[in-house]
Amino acid sequence: MSKKIRVRFAPSPTGVLHIGGARTALYNWLFARHHGGKFILRIEDTDRSRSTEEATSAIISSLKWLGLDWDEGPEVGGSYGPYHQTERLSFYEEAVAELLKARMAYKCYCSPEELEERRKLALKSGKPPGYDGRCRKLTEKEQKDYEEEGRKCAIRFACPKEGETIVSDTIRGDVVFQNTVLEDFILVRANGLPTYNFAAVIDDAAMKITHIIRGVDHLTNTPKQILLYEALGLSVPVFTHLPMILGSDGKPLSKRHGATSVEEYKKDGYLPGAILNYLALLGWSYDEKTTIFSVQDLIEKFTLDKITKNPAIFDNIKLQWMNGCYIRELSVDKLMDLLIPIWVDAGFFAKPSDFGIGNLKTITALVQERIKCLTDVLELTDFFFKEEIGIDPKTADKVLKNPEVSKVLEAAHEKLKELEKFDTENVEAALRSIPAELDVKPKLVFQPIRVAVTGRTVSPPLFETIEVLGKEKTLKRIELAQEATEEREGNG
Ligand code: GLU
Repeated sequence: MSKKIRVRFAPSPTGVLHIGGARTALYNWLFARHHGGKFILRIEDTDRSRSTEEATSAIISSLKWLGLDWDEGPEVGGSYGPYHQTERLSFYEEAVAELLKARMAYKCYCSPEELEERRKLALKSGKPPGYDGRCRKLTEKEQKDYEEEGRKCAIRFACPKEGETIVSDTIRGDVVFQNTVLEDFILVRANGLPTYNFAAVIDDAAMKITHIIRGVDHLTNTPKQILLYEALGLSVPVFTHLPMILGSDGKPLSKRHGATSVEEYKKDGYLPGAILNYLALLGWSYDEKTTIFSVQDLIEKFTLDKITKNPAIFDNIKLQWMNGCYIRELSVDKLMDLLIPIWVDAGFFAKPSDFGIGNLKTITALVQERIKCLTDVLELTDFFFKEEIGIDPKTADKVLKNPEVSKVLEAAHEKLKELEKFDTENVEAALRSIPAELDVKPKLVFQPIRVAVTGRTVSPPLFETIEVLGKEKTLKRIELAQEATEEREGNG
């Protein structure tokens, strides 16, 4: 591509960064990075009643967490700023003056109530409900009268009433819109603020955006925007509309399907690399078989022609699986650093040194293969930190009620008590001798011990676990399980 690529992500700060928005940002970012172009962040905050500073900060922090850095935009500046639309009002005023002068835009004095009434009437009589063009034909005198009445006016675009507008989409080919279906849309609201369609065009042109990559939900806005580019004599960028993202039930992704924001995924223990990898495949594929792509791979391989047309299905199970792959790739130290705040938040300890870095490192290594999300670690490891563990009655019934259990626990207690060096190797040797000595199957030995010391039937590897628990805790837990077993036997 000869022209310097410039793309943008232009969120409206009305809420947190959603999965769909994150995918749009990612595709723009990848495209820019692939071609050595520029990725711009622009905050579309002209809807003052819904835009907030908090949402802007939340979006920015999610983008940063994902590692999607921008070359121009808030915080970093750039030569085409400002990058908040509410700070760019003079650009819109200038463009509107030009359109009014050329009679390609006009003042509309219709009040919201009048518009609503006429919309209802139109619907009743089977006519299109869009704006009927009443103010397009106002004489100067009529305009003056309205002004004198103190009516406020919006500015509308005078859409051509015949012909067609063609959106040449990279993936969808030419999408043809009949101009008759495009109503005279508003450019500037009565409160003086521009609408999305207008501001986006003015800014995309001023910021020299070459390619617009955004969700297919914007496809119906595109002919309006193209007409504006043409009216203002601006060159039209290349459009790429990304496929819808649907939930597993085929309905548009929403809260009903679980977490939908980047923030929630972060909180639930997903890694940014896994999210990026997963989002990359939500509407793009390199080949049939490759699923794991590092960010560097994605930058190298990402091209627009491989974006898919069909809706993408968001599959949480696949994302979890992928996250597990990324967790397994981490070094134990790195993973431990990510787990520590999760343990601290759960109140398991206040500072890592309270529990011992060595122990935390061992626990991390023990669970690394087993967790799909960082937060899975809580359920899997809580017994290490708690003073007392409860054994749920069902588990106790299943594992501790065997007649051999008392003997097994007694033997385990005795052998472990004698150990001078309480490490994995010695613990293993001690416990492995029990099946033969008592003439019981290994499973009947190790399962009750596991349940006694961890409270559950599935745990990290037993001998290592016992080493981390330490002699005192292990013996105490075996004693408590023995008491419980005896009670059961007494009751039974
Ligand atoms: N502010 C618009 C949105 O968040 C931007 C759409 C576009 O990329 O043009 O949907």
